[in-house]
Amino acid sequence: MSATAMRSTVDSALLASLSAGFRGRILQSEDDGYTEARAVYNAMHDRRPALIVQPVDTADVVTAVAFAGDHDLLLSVKGGGHNVNGFGTNDDGLVIDLSAMRGAFVDPNARTATVGGGATWGDFDHATHAFGLATPGGILSTTGVAGLTLGGGIGYLNRQYGLSSDNLLAAEIVTADGGIVTASADEQPDLFWAIRGGGGNFGVVTRLTFNLHPVSTVYGGPIFFPAEASEDVLAFYRDFIRSAPRELGAFFAYHEAPPEPFVPEELHGQKACAIVVCYTGPLDRAEAAIRPIRAAAPVALDLCGPIPYPALNSMFDALLPAGLHHYWKSDFVRELSDAAIEVHASHGPQVPNFLSLMHLYPLDGAVQDVAKDATGFAYRDVDFTHIIAGIDSDRSNMPARIAWVRDYWAALHPLSAGGAYSNFMMEEGQSRIRTTYLDNYPKLVAAKRRWDPSNLFRMNQNIPPA
Ligand SMILES: Cc1cc2nc3c(=O)[nH]c(=O)nc-3n(C[C@H](O)[C@H](O)[C@H](O)COP(=O)(O)OP(=O)(O)OC[C@H]3O[C@@H](n4cnc5c(N)ncnc54)[C@H](O)[C@@H]3O)c2cc1C
Repeated sequence: MSATAMRSTVDSALLASLSAGFRGRILQSEDDGYTEARAVYNAMHDRRPALIVQPVDTADVVTAVAFAGDHDLLLSVKGGGHNVNGFGTNDDGLVIDLSAMRGAFVDPNARTATVGGGATWGDFDHATHAFGLATPGGILSTTGVAGLTLGGGIGYLNRQYGLSSDNLLAAEIVTADGGIVTASADEQPDLFWAIRGGGGNFGVVTRLTFNLHPVSTVYGGPIFFPAEASEDVLAFYRDFIRSAPRELGAFFAYHEAPPEPFVPEELHGQKACAIVVCYTGPLDRAEAAIRPIRAAAPVALDLCGPIPYPALNSMFDALLPAGLHHYWKSDFVRELSDAAIEVHASHGPQVPNFLSLMHLYPLDGAVQDVAKDATGFAYRDVDFTHIIAGIDSDRSNMPARIAWVRDYWAALHPLSAGGAYSNFMMEEGQSRIRTTYLDNYPKLVAAKRRWDPSNLFRMNQNIPPA
Protein backbone atom coordinates (compact mmCIF):
# COMPACT_ATOMS: atom_id res chain seq x y z
CA MET A 1 0.00 0.00 0.00
CA SER A 2 1.38 3.42 -0.85
CA ALA A 3 1.48 6.20 1.69
CA THR A 4 -1.01 8.28 -0.25
CA ALA A 5 -3.47 5.38 -0.41
CA MET A 6 -3.42 4.84 3.28
CA ARG A 7 -5.72 7.54 4.59
CA SER A 8 -8.81 6.09 2.94
CA THR A 9 -7.97 2.56 3.88
CA VAL A 10 -7.12 2.66 7.60
CA ASP A 11 -9.85 0.18 8.16
CA SER A 12 -10.62 -1.76 11.24
CA ALA A 13 -8.79 -4.92 10.10
CA LEU A 14 -5.60 -2.98 9.53
CA LEU A 15 -5.87 -1.16 12.85
CA ALA A 16 -6.60 -4.43 14.61
CA SER A 17 -3.40 -5.93 13.19
CA LEU A 18 -1.43 -2.99 14.56
CA SER A 19 -3.08 -2.76 17.94
CA ALA A 20 -2.70 -6.51 18.60
CA GLY A 21 0.95 -6.01 19.47
CA PHE A 22 0.83 -2.43 20.68
CA ARG A 23 0.31 -1.04 24.20
CA GLY A 24 0.57 2.69 23.55
CA ARG A 25 -1.94 5.04 21.93
CA ILE A 26 -2.86 4.86 18.24
CA LEU A 27 -4.30 8.11 16.94
CA GLN A 28 -6.30 8.95 13.84
CA SER A 29 -7.46 12.40 12.79
CA GLU A 30 -10.69 12.30 14.80
CA ASP A 31 -9.00 11.24 18.05
CA ASP A 32 -8.21 13.42 21.06
CA GLY A 33 -4.51 14.22 21.05
CA TYR A 34 -4.11 13.88 17.26
CA THR A 35 -3.85 17.63 16.69
CA GLU A 36 -1.07 18.06 19.26
CA ALA A 37 0.74 14.93 18.12
CA ARG A 38 0.78 15.82 14.42
CA ALA A 39 2.24 19.26 15.11
CA VAL A 40 5.96 19.93 15.10
CA TYR A 41 7.88 22.86 16.53
CA ASN A 42 8.15 24.75 13.22
CA ALA A 43 4.64 25.91 12.27
CA MET A 44 5.67 26.12 8.59
CA HIS A 45 4.84 22.38 8.46
CA ASP A 46 1.11 21.74 8.65
CA ARG A 47 0.91 18.03 7.94
CA ARG A 48 -1.68 15.32 8.56
CA PRO A 49 -0.42 11.79 9.06
CA ALA A 50 -2.87 8.94 8.53
CA LEU A 51 -1.80 7.35 11.81
CA ILE A 52 0.22 8.42 14.82
CA VAL A 53 1.45 5.81 17.25
CA GLN A 54 2.78 6.63 20.69
CA PRO A 55 4.81 3.63 21.86
CA VAL A 56 5.38 3.08 25.56
CA ASP A 57 8.29 0.67 25.18
CA THR A 58 10.76 -0.86 22.75
CA ALA A 59 8.38 -3.70 21.91
CA ASP A 60 5.82 -1.15 20.73
CA VAL A 61 8.44 0.46 18.52
CA VAL A 62 9.24 -2.93 16.98
CA THR A 63 5.54 -3.39 16.18
CA ALA A 64 5.27 0.07 14.64
CA VAL A 65 8.42 -0.27 12.52
CA ALA A 66 7.28 -3.67 11.23
CA PHE A 67 3.84 -2.21 10.41
CA ALA A 68 5.40 0.66 8.44
CA GLY A 69 7.69 -1.74 6.57
CA ASP A 70 4.98 -4.32 5.84
CA HIS A 71 2.63 -1.66 4.44
CA ASP A 72 5.29 0.44 2.74
CA LEU A 73 4.26 3.55 4.66
CA LEU A 74 6.01 6.87 4.71
CA LEU A 75 7.50 6.82 8.21
CA SER A 76 8.42 9.73 10.47
CA VAL A 77 10.10 9.33 13.83
CA LYS A 78 9.30 12.16 16.22
CA GLY A 79 11.50 12.79 19.25
CA GLY A 80 11.39 16.38 20.49
CA GLY A 81 9.74 17.50 17.23
CA HIS A 82 12.21 20.38 16.85
CA ASN A 83 13.61 19.63 13.45
CA VAL A 84 13.18 22.75 11.38
CA ASN A 85 12.32 20.63 8.32
CA GLY A 86 9.43 19.03 10.14
CA PHE A 87 10.85 15.52 9.73
CA GLY A 88 8.84 14.43 12.78
CA THR A 89 5.54 14.53 10.90
CA ASN A 90 4.24 13.83 7.39
CA ASP A 91 1.19 13.74 5.15
CA ASP A 92 -0.75 10.48 4.96
CA GLY A 93 1.93 8.25 6.45
CA LEU A 94 2.76 6.87 9.90
CA VAL A 95 4.38 8.84 12.72
CA ILE A 96 6.14 7.08 15.58
CA ASP A 97 5.83 9.73 18.29
CA LEU A 98 8.23 8.85 21.11
CA SER A 99 6.86 11.40 23.59
CA ALA A 100 5.71 8.66 25.99
CA MET A 101 9.27 7.26 26.19
CA ARG A 102 10.99 10.01 28.17
CA GLY A 103 12.19 8.22 31.28
CA ALA A 104 15.66 8.98 32.65
CA PHE A 105 17.86 6.91 34.94
CA VAL A 106 21.09 8.18 36.47
CA ASP A 107 23.89 5.99 37.80
CA PRO A 108 25.90 8.47 39.88
CA ASN A 109 28.68 5.99 40.64
CA ALA A 110 29.30 5.16 37.02
CA ARG A 111 28.50 8.78 36.11
CA THR A 112 26.13 7.75 33.34
CA ALA A 113 22.55 8.61 32.42
CA THR A 114 20.19 6.54 30.31
CA VAL A 115 17.15 8.20 28.73
CA GLY A 116 14.30 7.11 26.49
CA GLY A 117 14.27 7.96 22.79
CA GLY A 118 11.64 10.68 23.28
CA ALA A 119 13.34 12.51 26.16
CA THR A 120 14.07 16.22 25.87
CA TRP A 121 17.11 17.98 27.33
CA GLY A 122 14.77 19.28 30.03
CA ASP A 123 14.05 15.68 31.04
CA PHE A 124 17.74 14.88 30.93
CA ASP A 125 18.91 17.91 32.94
CA HIS A 126 16.16 17.42 35.52
CA ALA A 127 17.36 13.89 36.23
CA THR A 128 21.11 14.52 36.18
CA HIS A 129 21.16 17.87 38.02
CA ALA A 130 19.90 16.17 41.17
CA PHE A 131 23.31 14.46 41.25
CA GLY A 132 25.28 17.58 40.27
CA LEU A 133 26.03 16.07 36.87
CA ALA A 134 25.40 16.97 33.21
CA THR A 135 26.49 16.24 29.66
CA PRO A 136 26.67 18.56 26.65
CA GLY A 137 23.13 19.28 25.41
CA GLY A 138 21.69 22.15 23.39
CA ILE A 139 20.82 25.76 24.16
CA LEU A 140 17.11 25.11 24.85
CA SER A 141 15.62 22.43 27.08
CA THR A 142 12.73 21.57 24.76
CA THR A 143 14.87 19.99 22.01
CA GLY A 144 14.93 16.19 21.79
CA VAL A 145 17.98 14.39 23.19
CA ALA A 146 17.98 11.79 20.40
CA GLY A 147 17.50 14.12 17.42
CA LEU A 148 20.12 16.55 18.66
CA THR A 149 22.65 13.86 19.56
CA LEU A 150 22.26 11.82 16.38
CA GLY A 151 23.20 14.91 14.34
CA GLY A 152 26.18 15.76 16.58
CA GLY A 153 25.01 17.97 19.43
CA ILE A 154 26.12 21.58 19.82
CA GLY A 155 25.72 23.52 23.06
CA TYR A 156 27.26 25.26 26.05
CA LEU A 157 29.58 22.46 27.18
CA ASN A 158 31.21 21.49 23.86
CA ARG A 159 34.56 23.21 24.40
CA GLN A 160 35.08 21.29 27.63
CA TYR A 161 33.41 17.94 26.97
CA GLY A 162 32.93 17.63 23.20
CA LEU A 163 29.73 17.18 21.24
CA SER A 164 26.71 15.45 22.78
CA SER A 165 27.43 12.51 20.49
CA ASP A 166 31.02 12.33 21.75
CA ASN A 167 29.52 11.54 25.17
CA LEU A 168 27.19 8.82 23.92
CA LEU A 169 28.23 5.45 25.31
CA ALA A 170 25.53 3.20 23.89
CA ALA A 171 22.18 3.25 22.13
CA GLU A 172 19.40 0.71 21.83
CA ILE A 173 18.06 0.80 18.28
CA VAL A 174 15.10 -0.77 16.52
CA THR A 175 16.32 -1.38 12.99
CA ALA A 176 14.39 -1.47 9.72
CA ASP A 177 14.02 -5.26 9.86
CA GLY A 178 12.38 -4.99 13.28
CA GLY A 179 15.48 -6.17 15.15
CA ILE A 180 16.63 -4.69 18.47
CA VAL A 181 20.35 -4.01 18.67
CA THR A 182 22.68 -2.25 21.05
CA ALA A 183 25.26 -0.05 19.40
CA SER A 184 28.37 0.86 21.36
CA ALA A 185 32.15 0.81 20.95
CA ASP A 186 32.01 -2.99 21.43
CA GLU A 187 28.72 -3.93 19.80
CA GLN A 188 27.83 -3.12 16.19
CA PRO A 189 30.61 -0.52 16.01
CA ASP A 190 29.73 0.49 12.43
CA LEU A 191 26.24 1.45 13.58
CA PHE A 192 27.58 3.23 16.64
CA TRP A 193 29.97 5.16 14.40
CA ALA A 194 27.17 6.11 12.00
CA ILE A 195 24.59 7.31 14.54
CA ARG A 196 27.07 9.82 15.99
CA GLY A 197 26.48 12.43 13.29
CA GLY A 198 24.46 10.53 10.68
CA GLY A 199 21.06 11.46 12.16
CA GLY A 200 17.98 9.23 12.23
CA ASN A 201 18.98 7.32 9.08
CA PHE A 202 19.68 3.98 10.73
CA GLY A 203 16.74 3.09 12.97
CA VAL A 204 14.62 4.22 15.90
CA VAL A 205 16.77 4.92 18.93
CA THR A 206 14.76 3.80 21.93
CA ARG A 207 17.39 4.34 24.62
CA LEU A 208 20.59 6.38 24.91
CA THR A 209 23.31 6.13 27.56
CA PHE A 210 25.66 9.06 28.13
CA ASN A 211 28.77 9.88 30.06
CA LEU A 212 28.19 12.56 32.73
CA HIS A 213 30.43 15.30 34.12
CA PRO A 214 30.40 17.32 37.33
CA VAL A 215 28.44 20.41 36.21
CA SER A 216 25.98 21.95 38.64
CA THR A 217 25.78 25.69 39.33
CA VAL A 218 27.59 27.52 36.55
CA TYR A 219 28.26 31.20 35.93
CA GLY A 220 26.31 32.06 32.83
CA GLY A 221 23.85 34.08 30.81
CA PRO A 222 23.93 36.78 28.15
CA ILE A 223 25.92 40.01 28.20
CA PHE A 224 24.41 42.47 25.67
CA PHE A 225 26.15 45.26 23.80
CA PRO A 226 24.69 47.85 21.40
CA ALA A 227 24.58 46.52 17.84
CA GLU A 228 26.73 49.48 16.70
CA ALA A 229 29.63 47.97 18.66
CA SER A 230 29.24 44.54 17.09
CA GLU A 231 32.23 44.66 14.75
CA ASP A 232 34.54 45.32 17.71
CA VAL A 233 32.76 42.83 19.98
CA LEU A 234 32.92 40.09 17.37
CA ALA A 235 36.62 40.70 16.66
CA PHE A 236 37.23 40.59 20.42
CA TYR A 237 35.17 37.39 20.75
CA ARG A 238 37.09 35.61 17.97
CA ASP A 239 40.46 36.32 19.58
CA PHE A 240 39.27 35.80 23.15
CA ILE A 241 37.56 32.44 22.68
CA ARG A 242 40.61 31.02 20.90
CA SER A 243 42.69 31.23 24.08
CA ALA A 244 39.90 30.99 26.68
CA PRO A 245 40.00 28.01 29.06
CA ARG A 246 37.83 25.10 28.00
CA GLU A 247 35.50 25.52 30.96
CA LEU A 248 34.37 28.77 29.35
CA GLY A 249 31.64 28.12 26.80
CA ALA A 250 30.49 31.32 25.08
CA PHE A 251 28.64 32.00 21.85
CA PHE A 252 28.10 35.25 19.98
CA ALA A 253 24.60 36.40 18.97
CA TYR A 254 22.60 39.12 17.24
CA HIS A 255 19.14 39.76 18.64
CA GLU A 256 16.58 42.49 19.08
CA ALA A 257 15.87 43.15 22.75
CA PRO A 258 12.49 41.56 23.54
CA PRO A 259 9.69 43.40 25.36
CA GLU A 260 10.22 41.29 28.48
CA PRO A 261 10.22 42.43 32.11
CA PHE A 262 13.88 41.50 32.57
CA VAL A 263 14.83 44.00 29.83
CA PRO A 264 14.73 47.72 30.80
CA GLU A 265 11.96 49.41 28.80
CA GLU A 266 14.30 51.84 27.06
CA LEU A 267 16.04 48.87 25.44
CA HIS A 268 12.90 47.19 24.07
CA GLY A 269 13.17 46.87 20.30
CA GLN A 270 16.83 47.92 20.27
CA LYS A 271 19.16 45.86 18.09
CA ALA A 272 21.92 44.26 20.09
CA CYS A 273 24.72 41.77 19.98
CA ALA A 274 25.54 39.50 22.89
CA ILE A 275 28.05 37.03 24.21
CA VAL A 276 26.20 34.26 25.98
CA VAL A 277 28.38 32.65 28.63
CA CYS A 278 28.50 29.31 30.44
CA TYR A 279 31.50 29.05 32.78
CA THR A 280 31.77 25.72 34.59
CA GLY A 281 34.98 26.40 36.52
CA PRO A 282 35.08 27.35 40.21
CA LEU A 283 32.54 30.11 40.89
CA ASP A 284 35.09 32.21 42.75
CA ARG A 285 37.11 32.42 39.55
CA ALA A 286 34.20 33.13 37.21
CA GLU A 287 34.21 36.93 37.38
CA ALA A 288 37.91 37.04 36.56
CA ALA A 289 37.45 34.57 33.70
CA ILE A 290 34.79 36.65 31.99
CA ARG A 291 36.08 40.13 32.94
CA PRO A 292 37.52 40.65 29.44
CA ILE A 293 34.06 40.05 27.94
CA ARG A 294 32.54 42.75 30.13
CA ALA A 295 35.30 45.11 29.00
CA ALA A 296 34.88 44.36 25.27
CA ALA A 297 32.56 47.37 24.75
CA PRO A 298 30.09 49.40 26.84
CA VAL A 299 27.64 46.82 28.22
CA ALA A 300 23.94 47.48 27.49
CA LEU A 301 22.54 44.75 29.74
CA ASP A 302 24.30 42.14 31.85
CA LEU A 303 22.27 39.05 32.77
CA CYS A 304 25.26 36.86 33.58
CA GLY A 305 25.76 35.36 37.04
CA PRO A 306 25.62 32.14 39.07
CA ILE A 307 22.81 29.94 37.80
CA PRO A 308 21.94 26.22 38.00
CA TYR A 309 22.91 24.60 34.71
CA PRO A 310 19.31 23.45 33.91
CA ALA A 311 18.10 27.04 34.38
CA LEU A 312 20.69 28.32 31.91
CA ASN A 313 19.75 25.52 29.54
CA SER A 314 16.12 26.63 29.61
CA MET A 315 16.63 30.40 29.85
CA PHE A 316 15.49 31.04 26.27
CA ASP A 317 12.68 28.44 26.13
CA ALA A 318 9.94 30.98 26.74
CA LEU A 319 11.22 33.31 24.03
CA LEU A 320 11.08 30.54 21.45
CA PRO A 321 7.99 28.44 22.15
CA ALA A 322 6.71 25.79 19.76
CA GLY A 323 4.37 27.00 17.03
CA LEU A 324 6.41 29.86 15.55
CA HIS A 325 7.40 29.95 11.87
CA HIS A 326 11.09 29.26 11.22
CA TYR A 327 13.47 29.53 8.26
CA TRP A 328 17.15 28.77 8.92
CA LYS A 329 20.43 28.74 7.05
CA SER A 330 23.76 27.66 8.38
CA ASP A 331 27.40 26.90 7.61
CA PHE A 332 30.54 25.69 9.33
CA VAL A 333 33.25 28.34 9.58
CA ARG A 334 36.90 27.31 9.48
CA GLU A 335 38.15 30.62 10.80
CA LEU A 336 36.37 33.89 11.35
CA SER A 337 38.14 36.28 8.97
CA ASP A 338 38.01 40.07 9.17
CA ALA A 339 35.96 39.94 5.96
CA ALA A 340 33.41 37.65 7.64
CA ILE A 341 33.23 39.96 10.63
CA GLU A 342 32.46 42.84 8.27
CA VAL A 343 29.60 40.86 6.72
CA HIS A 344 28.21 40.10 10.18
CA ALA A 345 28.48 43.73 11.23
CA SER A 346 26.54 44.83 8.19
CA HIS A 347 23.74 42.19 8.22
CA GLY A 348 23.50 41.19 11.91
CA PRO A 349 22.26 44.55 13.19
CA GLN A 350 19.42 44.35 10.63
CA VAL A 351 17.94 41.43 12.59
CA PRO A 352 14.28 42.08 11.79
CA ASN A 353 12.43 41.25 15.02
CA PHE A 354 13.04 39.94 18.53
CA LEU A 355 12.47 36.30 17.52
CA SER A 356 14.95 36.17 14.64
CA LEU A 357 18.60 35.68 15.40
CA MET A 358 22.14 34.91 14.34
CA HIS A 359 24.14 32.63 16.62
CA LEU A 360 27.82 31.78 16.20
CA TYR A 361 28.86 28.73 18.23
CA PRO A 362 32.49 27.76 18.93
CA LEU A 363 33.53 24.25 17.91
CA ASP A 364 37.08 24.18 19.21
CA GLY A 365 38.50 22.61 22.36
CA ALA A 366 37.34 19.07 23.08
CA VAL A 367 35.35 18.89 19.81
CA GLN A 368 38.64 19.02 17.93
CA ASP A 369 40.28 16.37 20.17
CA VAL A 370 38.22 13.76 18.32
CA ALA A 371 39.53 12.61 14.93
CA LYS A 372 37.52 13.52 11.82
CA ASP A 373 36.89 9.86 11.01
CA ALA A 374 36.21 8.71 14.59
CA THR A 375 32.43 9.28 14.28
CA GLY A 376 30.02 10.20 11.49
CA PHE A 377 30.36 13.92 12.38
CA ALA A 378 33.06 15.09 9.99
CA TYR A 379 33.73 18.79 10.59
CA ARG A 380 36.29 18.58 13.39
CA ASP A 381 38.66 21.24 12.11
CA VAL A 382 36.35 24.25 12.04
CA ASP A 383 36.34 26.85 14.76
CA PHE A 384 32.67 27.84 14.52
CA THR A 385 29.25 27.20 13.06
CA HIS A 386 26.75 29.97 12.49
CA ILE A 387 23.02 29.77 12.20
CA ILE A 388 20.86 32.56 10.80
CA ALA A 389 17.20 32.11 11.69
CA GLY A 390 14.21 34.12 10.50
CA ILE A 391 11.42 33.48 13.01
CA ASP A 392 7.94 34.97 13.29
CA SER A 393 4.60 34.18 14.87
CA ASP A 394 2.82 35.55 11.76
CA ARG A 395 3.30 33.50 8.61
CA SER A 396 2.64 36.51 6.39
CA ASN A 397 5.86 38.11 7.66
CA MET A 398 7.96 35.12 6.61
CA PRO A 399 8.89 36.31 3.09
CA ALA A 400 10.65 39.32 4.65
CA ARG A 401 12.27 37.19 7.36
CA ILE A 402 13.45 34.69 4.74
CA ALA A 403 14.90 37.48 2.61
CA TRP A 404 17.00 38.70 5.57
CA VAL A 405 18.30 35.17 6.20
CA ARG A 406 19.12 34.50 2.55
CA ASP A 407 20.93 37.79 1.97
CA TYR A 408 22.97 37.42 5.15
CA TRP A 409 23.82 33.76 4.43
CA ALA A 410 24.69 34.42 0.77
CA ALA A 411 27.17 37.11 1.81
CA LEU A 412 28.79 34.80 4.38
CA HIS A 413 28.75 31.53 2.47
CA PRO A 414 31.86 32.23 0.33
CA LEU A 415 33.75 32.86 3.58
CA SER A 416 32.54 29.61 5.16
CA ALA A 417 33.89 26.05 5.19
CA GLY A 418 31.40 24.64 2.68
CA GLY A 419 29.19 22.23 4.60
CA ALA A 420 26.64 22.82 7.32
CA TYR A 421 25.61 21.05 10.52
CA SER A 422 22.87 18.60 9.51
CA ASN A 423 20.67 19.59 12.47
CA PHE A 424 20.64 23.24 11.34
CA MET A 425 19.92 22.50 7.67
CA MET A 426 16.63 22.83 5.88
CA GLU A 427 15.87 20.98 2.66
CA GLU A 428 19.00 21.88 0.73
CA GLY A 429 19.55 18.96 -1.63
CA GLN A 430 21.65 15.83 -1.71
CA SER A 431 24.94 17.47 -2.61
CA ARG A 432 24.72 19.70 0.45
CA ILE A 433 24.21 16.60 2.63
CA ARG A 434 27.29 15.00 1.06
CA THR A 435 29.29 18.14 1.78
CA THR A 436 28.24 17.91 5.42
CA TYR A 437 29.88 14.52 5.78
CA LEU A 438 33.03 15.05 3.68
CA ASP A 439 35.15 11.86 3.55
CA ASN A 440 32.86 10.11 6.04
CA TYR A 441 30.03 9.93 3.51
CA PRO A 442 30.94 6.56 1.87
CA LYS A 443 31.14 4.87 5.28
CA LEU A 444 27.74 6.30 6.21
CA VAL A 445 26.31 4.92 2.97
CA ALA A 446 27.80 1.51 3.81
CA ALA A 447 26.13 1.59 7.23
CA LYS A 448 22.86 2.66 5.64
CA ARG A 449 23.08 -0.27 3.18
CA ARG A 450 23.60 -2.70 6.02
CA TRP A 451 21.00 -1.36 8.44
CA ASP A 452 18.30 0.19 6.24
CA PRO A 453 18.70 -1.08 2.66
CA SER A 454 15.15 -0.08 1.67
CA ASN A 455 15.49 3.46 3.10
CA LEU A 456 12.52 3.06 5.45
CA PHE A 457 14.05 5.84 7.59
CA ARG A 458 14.14 8.64 5.05
CA MET A 459 12.41 11.53 6.83
CA ASN A 460 15.77 13.01 7.81
CA GLN A 461 18.82 14.56 6.12
CA ASN A 462 18.77 11.43 4.06
CA ILE A 463 21.74 9.26 3.21
CA PRO A 464 20.28 6.99 0.51
CA PRO A 465 21.59 3.42 0.52
CA ALA A 466 22.38 3.47 -3.19
C1 LIG B 1 14.61 26.17 18.90
C2 LIG B 1 15.66 25.18 18.54
C3 LIG B 1 16.86 25.16 19.22
C4 LIG B 1 17.86 24.27 18.86
N1 LIG B 1 19.04 24.30 19.52
C5 LIG B 1 20.01 23.43 19.18
C6 LIG B 1 21.24 23.42 19.88
O1 LIG B 1 21.45 24.18 20.80
N2 LIG B 1 22.18 22.53 19.51
C7 LIG B 1 21.98 21.65 18.49
O2 LIG B 1 22.88 20.86 18.20
N3 LIG B 1 20.83 21.64 17.81
C8 LIG B 1 19.85 22.52 18.13
N4 LIG B 1 18.69 22.52 17.43
C9 LIG B 1 18.56 21.65 16.27
C10 LIG B 1 18.15 20.29 16.71
O3 LIG B 1 19.30 19.56 17.08
C11 LIG B 1 17.49 19.55 15.56
O4 LIG B 1 16.34 20.26 15.18
C12 LIG B 1 17.13 18.13 15.95
O5 LIG B 1 16.82 17.45 14.77
C13 LIG B 1 15.98 18.12 16.90
O6 LIG B 1 15.74 16.86 17.42
P1 LIG B 1 14.28 16.52 17.97
O7 LIG B 1 14.30 15.16 18.48
O8 LIG B 1 13.82 17.62 18.86
O9 LIG B 1 13.44 16.70 16.65
P2 LIG B 1 12.54 15.72 15.78
O10 LIG B 1 11.97 16.64 14.74
O11 LIG B 1 11.63 14.94 16.57
O12 LIG B 1 13.61 14.77 15.12
C14 LIG B 1 14.65 15.24 14.34
C15 LIG B 1 15.25 14.16 13.48
O13 LIG B 1 15.81 13.18 14.33
C16 LIG B 1 15.13 11.95 14.17
N5 LIG B 1 14.88 11.38 15.48
C17 LIG B 1 14.42 12.02 16.58
N6 LIG B 1 14.35 11.16 17.62
C18 LIG B 1 14.79 9.98 17.14
C19 LIG B 1 14.96 8.71 17.72
N7 LIG B 1 14.69 8.48 19.00
N8 LIG B 1 15.44 7.71 16.94
C20 LIG B 1 15.74 7.91 15.64
N9 LIG B 1 15.59 9.10 15.04
C21 LIG B 1 15.13 10.12 15.78
C22 LIG B 1 13.84 12.30 13.46
O14 LIG B 1 13.36 11.26 12.69
C23 LIG B 1 14.23 13.47 12.61
O15 LIG B 1 14.83 13.05 11.43
C24 LIG B 1 17.65 23.37 17.80
C25 LIG B 1 16.43 23.36 17.15
C26 LIG B 1 15.44 24.25 17.50
C27 LIG B 1 14.16 24.28 16.75
